Amino acid sequence: MRDYEARRLKNCSQSPTVALNAKGIEMKEQGIDVLSFAAGEPDFDTPEIIKQAAFEAIRNNQTHYTSAAGLVTLRRRIALKLREENGIAVDESCIIVTPGAKLALFQALMAFLEEGDECLVPTPAYPSYQAIIRMAGATYVPVPLKIEDGFRLTGQMLEEKATERTKMLIICNPCNPTGHVLSREEVEDIAAFAREREILVISDEIYEKLIYDGRKHYSLGAIPEIADRVITLNGFSKSVAMTGWRIGYSAAHPALTKVMMKLQTNTVNCTASFVQVASIAAFDCAEETEAMRLSYLERRDLICDGLNAIPGVFCPRSEGAFYAFFKIDYRDMTAEQLADYILEKAGILVVPGTGFGEGGEKCIRLSFAADKTQLKTAVERLRKIFA
Ligand code: PMP
Ligand code: GLU
Repeated sequence: MRDYEARRLKNCSQSPTVALNAKGIEMKEQGIDVLSFAAGEPDFDTPEIIKQAAFEAIRNNQTHYTSAAGLVTLRRRIALKLREENGIAVDESCIIVTPGAKLALFQALMAFLEEGDECLVPTPAYPSYQAIIRMAGATYVPVPLKIEDGFRLTGQMLEEKATERTKMLIICNPCNPTGHVLSREEVEDIAAFAREREILVISDEIYEKLIYDGRKHYSLGAIPEIADRVITLNGFSKSVAMTGWRIGYSAAHPALTKVMMKLQTNTVNCTASFVQVASIAAFDCAEETEAMRLSYLERRDLICDGLNAIPGVFCPRSEGAFYAFFKIDYRDMTAEQLADYILEKAGILVVPGTGFGEGGEKCIRLSFAADKTQLKTAVERLRKIFA
């Protein structure tokens, strides 16, 4: 067939995390004995009150288009949460409810990036940042972080990669895949850089509720000097296990929101009405979220302790999210070779660290949002093949 692909897509690939997740599901369907830790999604069911609210909404025929940005009641509730919990000064005019935070990310990048623009991304990073930056025609500029430094990011590191074309910076806090949670100092340093350069900042806070060891979450959008230029992304997928419902949101200055609404109104129109209604109930699920967090914490310790006991493996204790991101020194294998070897010899599906960009060399991402017995089996099998 003739090559019909648009040029804007030539330079990017399918999401490796989504593709590997699908591979795991297919292998299991074919009856292949594989332990899949590729998927980055909670292994909990959505809390009951959210499901009940959805049933109720459908029964009440809340099945029509809502206002494009989202139900005012939901947007007000989101804005209240952002003011109270995150210190971000927003109201409903700043919020767009989208089918997943991923679409909010897409809108934010498409709305503000174009050819000639550069976008800084500390890496290892969520693979879709790179792909969408490229779709927008802009230049992806990685800022590689080091596992040995605990993936610490400084304003100086950003400054070294910045040019007069730098228009945007994407921060993921807590970070998928590294599990790093930004300290107050890091946040202030990043903010000072963004203020100096007058750039836009996307702050992806989807793992905000999953933080361990008494660490605190600091939102970039709460820093007054840059607040007008920060687009905060968040959603319900991770905090209340709603991945399949597809709902998330962006919060930004009304002037930026207005631009992103050009994309919202001409694409999805609005997010599913009854899903929006159900999401309002998610704000009453603090207890459920905390129980999930504690369960992830237990599994983090299980996996990190288990992996660190294997010679040649270095697994920093994830500070947030539900991923172990670890380095393996074994026969000089690359991350891809390691992932293939682990699948072939141990029947375990993981994501190679380089799928997340520079800084992921010789690394593997394993999601510990998985069955405890399976995690123990995984550690045992890895111990055997790397012994
Ligand atoms: N950002 C990050 C860092 C993620 O890991 C995810 C989950 N895949 C998303 C955004 C998107 O989440 P969702 O579209 O399910 O809200
Ligand atoms: N957050 C998940 C992951 O990183 C889901 C896949 C995706 O959205 O790319 O695996």
